Amino acid sequence: MAWDFSTDPEFQAVLDWMKVFVRDEVEPLDLVFRRPEDPFDPASPAQAAMAPLKKIVKEKGLWACHLGPELGGKGFGQLKLGLMNEILGRSRFAPTVFGTQAPDTGNAEILARFGTEAQKAKYLQPLLDGEIASCYSMTEPQAGADPAEFTCKATREGDSWVIEGEKWFASHAWFAEFLIVMAITDPKVPVHEGSSMIIVEKGTPGLEIVRNVTVGPHDEIGAGVHGYLRFNRCKVPQANVLGPVGGGFMVAQSRLGGGRVHHAMRTVGMLNKAMEMMCERVVSRRTKGERLADKQMVQEKIADSYTQILQFRLHVLYAAWLLDRDKAYTRDVRREISAVKAAMPGVLKDVVYRALHLHGSLGMSNETPLMNMWQYVPEMGIVDGPTEVHKVSVAKDVLRNVAPSPGVFPTYNVPERRAAAEKKFAAFLKGSDKK
Ligand SMILES: Cc1cc2nc3c(=O)[nH]c(=O)nc-3n(C[C@H](O)[C@H](O)[C@H](O)COP(=O)(O)OP(=O)(O)OC[C@H]3O[C@@H](n4cnc5c(N)ncnc54)[C@H](O)[C@@H]3O)c2cc1C
Repeated sequence: MAWDFSTDPEFQAVLDWMKVFVRDEVEPLDLVFRRPEDPFDPASPAQAAMAPLKKIVKEKGLWACHLGPELGGKGFGQLKLGLMNEILGRSRFAPTVFGTQAPDTGNAEILARFGTEAQKAKYLQPLLDGEIASCYSMTEPQAGADPAEFTCKATREGDSWVIEGEKWFASHAWFAEFLIVMAITDPKVPVHEGSSMIIVEKGTPGLEIVRNVTVGPHDEIGAGVHGYLRFNRCKVPQANVLGPVGGGFMVAQSRLGGGRVHHAMRTVGMLNKAMEMMCERVVSRRTKGERLADKQMVQEKIADSYTQILQFRLHVLYAAWLLDRDKAYTRDVRREISAVKAAMPGVLKDVVYRALHLHGSLGMSNETPLMNMWQYVPEMGIVDGPTEVHKVSVAKDVLRNVAPSPGVFPTYNVPERRAAAEKKFAAFLKGSDKK
């Protein structure tokens, strides 16, 4: 019988150190390096500012902890990673300072899992060392959630694959050293069997960045980090296929699970931050002779936010625990990850909205992090697959083994159940009023 919600003291000490380090040393980076690419682009001036911090993280043994021991990593496990990510979620820069930023983490995972020795040496090691950035390119302009609609294809010509088509929202494409591109390699079979992952290096002839897209209305502060790409007969060696030819979908599936748990725990970090701001505000601001905190309608907002954050946090940690238990994307793991993913934008919307609202005009302004958090609400419902798709997966799994009622009336219909119960307890009912 093991139901235990505590963290062992040794790891708690690590988390306590991280909390102070992220608050005092990392969060200030958010205030001065404001372009979307700053935490990720190896050429950003922010890199020099991050370098001493990365060194400290490495010395502490906390660098790039996302790979399990079977993939050559430290093997922290998802639960510990979850607790770490909760702290990293407080700052845009923290994941990079700790060597666990998307999409590099997921790319490292599939390189470690499926890469040849040559691919690992060339791409995985520099990626894990934080020397280069990478890109993962699957979504297309006409299709995202449904890979069956993808059309970008790769055809074998001699010793090469020739890629033709377009990709959309390929994060970090313009400063990535290499891209992992999903392309249709056999159009005659369903996409689940006919797509492959292909590594395309920066500067390969035929790789065109049509434009870079930004999330939100921020075109004045940078070029945007999400690439709209065109592959004009872009030729790469056959050896650049990552994983089996035709196994692109399977590789993609194996990449997203852990990443979704990390995303969710970083969202918990953001929620905690919004909650702290909300609490400080309501005990500080006065109206009609008392603190906001003394108004019952405000207390309801605090209580609802507290409960929603705790429920969401425990659900994410449960998903992480399942992943550690099963060490694979089993049905149980996938259901819980989808459930968490689907719940995430709703919790974020509720809590951040309450925090914004209680801050009044200050909340609307650019003088708190709250409006930045607000931007993540719709993003969390789209990135890594729309909410609807995850809800469909959860519902299908929940209903998988549920049998239909044997007749017109359900198995729980009271008259039939009461008749059966009366029969069972007949000896005790003699003389009593059965009605
Ligand atoms: C910040 C950000 C970063 C991203 N980075 C990357 C990246 O690095 N690489 C990459 O390949 N992609 C990336 N994406 C793209 C992301 O994976 C897609 O946006 C996502 O898969 C949804 O695809 P879509 O945008 O084409 O929307 P669509 O698939 O067109 O869906 C639009 C809407 O249609 C509805 N819908 C879709 N399917 C269903 C369904 N089955 N049932 C009911 N309703 C449905 C939903 O309301 C959904 O929100 C990124 C997206 C964002 C926002």
